[in-house]
Amino acid sequence: MNDTAMQNKNTGFVWHESYAWHDTGTPALFVPADGKTVQPDISGDDPEVKRRFRNLLEMSSLWDKLHHIKPRPAAEEDILRVHGRGYLERVQSLSRSGGGEISPMTMCGPNSYEIALLSTGGVMAAADAVLEGNIRNAYALVRPPGHHAMPDEGQGSCIFSNIAITARYLMDQYGLERVAIVDWDVHHGNGTEAAFWSDPNVLTISIHQDRCFPQDRGFVEQCGEDDGEGFNLNIPLPPGSGVPAYQATFDQVVVPALDRFSPDFILVASGLDAGALDPIGRMLMHSDGYRYLTEAVMAAADTSCDGRLVLCHEGGYSRATVPFYGLAIMEQLSGINTGIEDPFLEMVQGFGGQELLPHQQSAIDKAGQLLGGVR
Ligand code: ZN
Repeated sequence: MNDTAMQNKNTGFVWHESYAWHDTGTPALFVPADGKTVQPDISGDDPEVKRRFRNLLEMSSLWDKLHHIKPRPAAEEDILRVHGRGYLERVQSLSRSGGGEISPMTMCGPNSYEIALLSTGGVMAAADAVLEGNIRNAYALVRPPGHHAMPDEGQGSCIFSNIAITARYLMDQYGLERVAIVDWDVHHGNGTEAAFWSDPNVLTISIHQDRCFPQDRGFVEQCGEDDGEGFNLNIPLPPGSGVPAYQATFDQVVVPALDRFSPDFILVASGLDAGALDPIGRMLMHSDGYRYLTEAVMAAADTSCDGRLVLCHEGGYSRATVPFYGLAIMEQLSGINTGIEDPFLEMVQGFGGQELLPHQQSAIDKAGQLLGGVR
């Protein structure tokens, strides 16, 4: 590819087929099949959702206009930036012995250790490409996801904390001083929060459905401690929140927080399970809503860090709709309209609840009071 062609490709994309081969067994959503009452089913962490997102991109005119980034496996030292050695070795040995349960709801299959390294390394490679100036922004469609992974325990389908490791890598490797992480997955980003709980150099913001998962974290009062106090923003929204509630959250809290913090790089934990037809989440987002959120973080990145932005895939369980959310995000990131319409959009726009309701505004106001602690 010549230089001119490269310059036209502003947006990177990461995918590897092995991400879909990480085998999480046959639970019904996340409840293990038991041969008695719970029939074996498609795992909640369904690889086909992600593959369909990738495939819709290939079916669109966007595919050839993306800068395709080859993921590399994260090194052991990278994983140790966030996780303990004991945990790493436990995953390694489970994976090498054919797989098993890391923790309830978090499964390891054969070779899952290597796939998890490639998942983390995919996000790191996307960040490298942005910092090296090859591209302006990127989406890493990786699996297994990472935002629930605690330093010493996998949780909620997450093995290694892809986004937290990447944030640490950016600071250690490139000398970046401040990184912001925005998590719009419908679940609370508890692993990411834990990694930076007392760190004022990483601003973590999680917008999630109140007490969806985990149910004992993600409260607005949990805002970090010691030097990190004020640099962890939890915005729990009531179940049923629609696109106007998300827009208000970004306009009134997320973007002002990013502007105040002025990061050198923005990472987004892009779970797409706040979509209205998700089997697990109870929110009412749609593709135009994701377009809006993407535009908001892009504008914040333009203001603070020359547009440097990487989105890292997390949850999202609706096979039919997630690909259209993904396409909307990719169109926004790249500035290229494919002309493909989301066939679900009109129906979801017409659902009751697509308005900002008073109890949602009061949840946003409560989170807005934290802005004073961000500096
Ligand atoms: Zn999620």
